[in-house]
Amino acid sequence: MILKDLVVGPFGSNCYIVGSKSSKEGMIIDPGDEAEVILSNVKDLELEIKSIVLTHAHIDHIGALKEVKEATGAEVAIHTDEAESLQRQPLSTMFGISYPAPPPPDRSLKDGDSIDIGDLHFEVLHTPGHSPGCICLLGEGIIFSGDTLFNYSIGRTDLPGGSYSQLMDSIHTRLMTLPDDTIVYPGHGPDTTIGTERQGNPFLRD
Ligand SMILES: [Zn+2]
Ligand SMILES: [Zn+2]
Repeated sequence: MILKDLVVGPFGSNCYIVGSKSSKEGMIIDPGDEAEVILSNVKDLELEIKSIVLTHAHIDHIGALKEVKEATGAEVAIHTDEAESLQRQPLSTMFGISYPAPPPPDRSLKDGDSIDIGDLHFEVLHTPGHSPGCICLLGEGIIFSGDTLFNYSIGRTDLPGGSYSQLMDSIHTRLMTLPDDTIVYPGHGPDTTIGTERQGNPFLRD
């Protein structure tokens, strides 16, 4: 598997480029900003991007969506419960950030859906809490956790649609049930593993 992590934009968001070594097909997770950097990496990796998957619709994860979509022609996939806020973007008003209006999604995701990129297989986990339609993508021994779980931290729940009890429920029932050696690639900050977080994440202690 090809995996490239790019830290983009003022919020230091992780944009992941994932590709199949054999088929050279790829997906982009959370094109948050700096479209030209993302696209030049895609070119260097010689990938044909099939999907752009959004872990959720917050501005710091979709700022480069329009340009990346236009350049790659890939399908844009987001959870059903997040599609409306992708178009409305309440947070861009709240934080006073302007950015190109995102295109409507091509695919509405729900829990259990598959995203296949060549020989790579990922499953959509609906993990509400940070926002109503947050997803994680699980497959190939790794999980892309968006803003649900971070290295020694968890997503904030004080933004519109956030819920602390939902977030904790998502983390405990969907993520902490995974094997310890599952590598976690979060929406911000360094990667970690489920085992490391189970042992040391201060937000997950009783
Ligand atoms: Zn967020
Ligand atoms: Zn974020």
